[in-house]
Amino acid sequence: MAVSIVAVTKGFGPDAVRAAAASGVATIGENYAQELLSKRSAIEESGLAVHFIGQLQRNKVRAIADVVGLWETVDRAALADELARRAPGARLLVQLDASGQPGKGGCPPGDVPALVEHCRRRDLAVEGLMTVGPTGASPEQVRPAFRMCRRLADELGLTTVSMGMSDDFEVAVEEGSTEVRVGTALFGRRP
Ligand SMILES: *Cc1c(COP(=O)(O)O)cnc(C)c1O
Repeated sequence: MAVSIVAVTKGFGPDAVRAAAASGVATIGENYAQELLSKRSAIEESGLAVHFIGQLQRNKVRAIADVVGLWETVDRAALADELARRAPGARLLVQLDASGQPGKGGCPPGDVPALVEHCRRRDLAVEGLMTVGPTGASPEQVRPAFRMCRRLADELGLTTVSMGMSDDFEVAVEEGSTEVRVGTALFGRRP
């Protein structure tokens, strides 16, 4: 099973975007709308695809809708509604809260099927699930969250499973990740 890499350029300037493109990576990840817009020309020149991986506020959708190729953090119906309005047919992942840690966003597991349905009724293209592992946990402590995410995606017939960051991508891949989001391991510590 091939695992794709999203090079997370958040915290770095346009140089990181160009470095990612030069290294052969096809996709970058960004967390913040303003920061993403500040790198817009470098992104457009590079031809890289952009995945939005930060917690998304409804009022930011419109500003970045024409730069973002995949929305990875859709975790509530109101956000889906805004995407349907500002980015009709948008490709997205539903973000699963697999660990119950506050401050990370994500939809509780029991609510995911209904949210997927809701997105589809709005003609949005739900391609998979995304999750962020619990922080401060050992690799073996993050494993159950990743396993749950993969199982839920399988149950829903979804093929993309975005999970794993610099500290936990190995476990994520063992548990069936199809996309890892890696920043620090590629670019070093964020300034
Ligand atoms: C910052 C971030 C990453 C990358 O984290 P690293 O530890 O630097 O690899 C991946 N996913 C999300 C959602 C992030 O916010």
